[in-house]
Amino acid sequence: MLKLTAEVAERIRAHGAQSYPYECCGALLGSDGPEGRDAWDLVALENFRQDSPRNRFLVRPEDVLRVEKAARERRLDLIGWYHSHPDAPARPSEFDREHAWPWYSYVIVSVEAAQPRQMSSWRLTDDRRRFESEEIVAQLGMPG
Ligand SMILES: [Zn+2]
Repeated sequence: MLKLTAEVAERIRAHGAQSYPYECCGALLGSDGPEGRDAWDLVALENFRQDSPRNRFLVRPEDVLRVEKAARERRLDLIGWYHSHPDAPARPSEFDREHAWPWYSYVIVSVEAAQPRQMSSWRLTDDRRRFESEEIVAQLGMPG
């Protein structure tokens, strides 16, 4: 289960709409625990795929380092990634599966004609053969 604050969900949607007709991508920062994981913040990334930025989401190794540093500074963990699917359903592509890592949450927002639509989250199985759907629930507020 992935808990998203309304603000994080809205920022993902806005980034997808703003990047349309190209894909947006970014990292989710939060915490992982026995009762699910919480995304408290995000870091927007540039989509560096020049050949096909419309349907190719790829995170560079230097992005991972930068995002992990940003997470530590905010006392959060890197818990996942998000990207948009312009004019395509919010389901992972074969390319997404081949380039994904287990454990992380992969949030996908479908954007049709610049309007954000459905949002879904996925976790790659440990054998990396398929994605399993992860439930997204609304997080109402930060504890304490
Ligand atoms: Zn994708």
